[in-house]
Amino acid sequence: VVAVLFGPPGSGKGTQAAALAARLGVPHVATGDIFRKHLAGNTDLGQLAKSYMSAGKLVPDEVTCKLVASRLGEPDAANGGLFDGFPRSVAQAEWLLPFLSGRGQPLEVAVNLVVPDDQVVTRLGGRRTCTSCGATYHVAHAPPGPGDTCTRCGATVIRRPDDEDAVILQRLQTYHAETAPVLGVLRGAAPVHDVVGTGTIDAVAERIARVIPA
Ligand code: ADP
Ligand code: ADP
Ligand code: ZN
Repeated sequence: VVAVLFGPPGSGKGTQAAALAARLGVPHVATGDIFRKHLAGNTDLGQLAKSYMSAGKLVPDEVTCKLVASRLGEPDAANGGLFDGFPRSVAQAEWLLPFLSGRGQPLEVAVNLVVPDDQVVTRLGGRRTCTSCGATYHVAHAPPGPGDTCTRCGATVIRRPDDEDAVILQRLQTYHAETAPVLGVLRGAAPVHDVVGTGTIDAVAERIARVIPA
């Protein structure tokens, strides 16, 4: 199964992805997480991605699509994947759809998490991220462990540099200008379920489970 979890930054894609990926039996493929791993490891790709990420802009399509092709070539992705944060531009979507069909695994379904801009801003401003496993928390809605530690792995939890206020606004602008138009491309290829992304984390998970039953 290939599925896409779509929505603005801060809409809860990462929060919801683990459970959904487990139910679908495919890996969670988050391009942002992969870029952050390269940043931490100081690879060439990490160096290249850094300036775009810290400015709230998209890493170039060619680089991003190559990364995804190589990720889908790994053994755990033989049966597909759940994309989070990809595709993020019309060019990425127009590359992805024929690529998937060529693998004999066309896009099956997408969920569009709908969250208004003002909530995106408060969610991202309060988001805290584990430096080791990538788990996310929120200072008010889902606080980390004592002393800003990850309840999943024990590592330190930080505020991502691109979750600073100025970059949040730039990321929202990038979303509206370059990413939102991807929805039209996806709707032409597979069912796209609009899911209300506000309310509790559990309530959102239930709404997703209703449109994508196991
Ligand atoms: P969020 O979880 O807030 O939506 P991500 O972790 O998905 O953010 O992405 C962080 C940053 O990594 C983006 O702002 C962008 O710079 C880069 N990035 C992630 N995915 C893509 C993509 N598909 N295309 C281009 N850039 C990307
Ligand atoms: P995305 O991957 O789409 O960028 P995240 O899953 O990282 O979004 O969520 C962004 C922030 O919002 C995190 O701090 C997360 O804990 C918080 N969050 C996620 N879902 C909800 C929700 N339903 N209600 C309140 N806060 C949420
Ligand atoms: Zn962790």
